[in-house]
Amino acid sequence: MSDGPLDDETLEKYREAGSVLREVLDEAAEKVEPGVTQLEVADFAESRIRELADGCAFPANISVDEEASHASPGRDDDTEFGEEMVCLDCGVHVDGYIADAAVTVDLSGNPELVEAAEEALDAALDAVGPGVQSGTVGAEIEDVIRGYGYTPVLNLSGHGVSQWDAHTGPTIPNRGTERGVELEVGDVVAIEPFATTGRGKVTEGSKEEIYSLERDRSVRDRSARNVLEQVKEEYKTLPFAARWLDDPRAEMAVKRLKQQGILHGYPVLKEDDGELVSQAEHTVVVTEDGCEILTA
Ligand code: MN
Ligand code: MN
Repeated sequence: MSDGPLDDETLEKYREAGSVLREVLDEAAEKVEPGVTQLEVADFAESRIRELADGCAFPANISVDEEASHASPGRDDDTEFGEEMVCLDCGVHVDGYIADAAVTVDLSGNPELVEAAEEALDAALDAVGPGVQSGTVGAEIEDVIRGYGYTPVLNLSGHGVSQWDAHTGPTIPNRGTERGVELEVGDVVAIEPFATTGRGKVTEGSKEEIYSLERDRSVRDRSARNVLEQVKEEYKTLPFAARWLDDPRAEMAVKRLKQQGILHGYPVLKEDDGELVSQAEHTVVVTEDGCEILTA
């Protein structure tokens, strides 16, 4: 996967992205409480990221209860936090080099579900190093979560990141598996255990707020063309939120661009049984003697 150790300049960009993300994620998590809107927290996190780094690697994901991933508030969304399990997952880029991390804020009274994901992440990070199989890392995650009496979300995985690519190889499963890849020095990977009180499978829901450029093509419609220009200019191949687009009617254009195969949509992923999901995530770089946690 990797081309060997990262050069110093690249490593510094990843470190910068990681430290900005740590700061912003901690600040944003503090703001999550009943009565506050999801949009306030997303706006806060995204503005801070733009202030401190080159931009968001993807929209602030705010997933509550059975939602596991790809949930983000819409343009005029006034949904407030209630007594919920809230996963906050953000990404930062510096010159396209990405850090991706998540925390769970429990307002639902299930602190052990959060602990399970966090402890699974710690165990996974302890296992990471050159020559280690991705399935071995997954086994660490699965063992810890099952030890708590919960189930890992089996069809969500950790992943590599690279410049302008928020989701690439290698895949880091959330379960023990024989198939997999060997981690190498210089791999930059996001490891993200999800723990659930359900059976551990997510499926696509109907809500969709996050998109990315799939294939650039010329479009005739003026509004769609404006949206496409903004996406290429500001977000390149990184995922973006429809509410980020300047055109107040961008959501319509986005739907058309998706139908034409120009944009890709990321529907919210929900736990199949409607059960609670928690998440913990760090981005690390694999080093000679283990890994360096970029988002610590
Ligand atoms: Mn993430
Ligand atoms: Mn991730």
